[in-house]
Amino acid sequence: MKIIFLGAPGAGKGTQAAIVSQKLSIPTISTGEIIRESVRNETPLGKTAKELIEKGELVPDNLVIELVRNRISQDDCKNGFILDGFPRTIEQAKALSEMGVDIDAVVNIFVSDADIIRRMGGRRTCSKCSATYHTLYNPSAKGECCEKCGEKLSVRADDSPETVKKRLEVYHRQTQPLEDYYNDLGKLVTVVGQEKLEDTTRLTLEALKVND
Ligand code: AMP
Repeated sequence: MKIIFLGAPGAGKGTQAAIVSQKLSIPTISTGEIIRESVRNETPLGKTAKELIEKGELVPDNLVIELVRNRISQDDCKNGFILDGFPRTIEQAKALSEMGVDIDAVVNIFVSDADIIRRMGGRRTCSKCSATYHTLYNPSAKGECCEKCGEKLSVRADDSPETVKKRLEVYHRQTQPLEDYYNDLGKLVTVVGQEKLEDTTRLTLEALKVND
């Protein structure tokens, strides 16, 4: 299956994508994660992206499109993949279709802006293995450390309240038009994000017609 997760920053795309990825044994491609790694490794892409990420703005389409084109041509994507955080603009969606990628479903996780802002304060990430947690809704079994690799958890630099507001504004302006784009193609399914992540997972699996 080829699945896209759409939704505002902090709506829970990454968390749900990880669960579906495990269930279907297909990789998740998170452009945000790949870009953050490029920033850490100070690659040319990372150098361009650093300031944009910190400001809550998008990285230029051509760079992200090339990154995805390369990633999905790898062997582990042969039986399908999940895109988390791509496409984020109509331009990117058109490029994906021009690559010949036939998407099975686009899961749009809806969470109101007010709830996103309230939830973002509790988001924690592992800078080593990229696992994500929430202090209230999805705490690590190891407290302030990652339950998978033991690394100390941190708050992402772009999860500060001002940057979250900017990212939401960018989301509404540049990414939300994709809802109509994929709805017109008959691919969009909307899942209302719930307080409990397992409830959102149940709705997501139902929407994808995948057995729990
Ligand atoms: P995310 O982890 O998906 O919230 O992405 C973090 C940041 O990476 C975004 O705020 C953007 O600056 C950048 N980014 C990730 N995916 C894309 C994309 N598809 N297009 C442009 N910028 C992206």
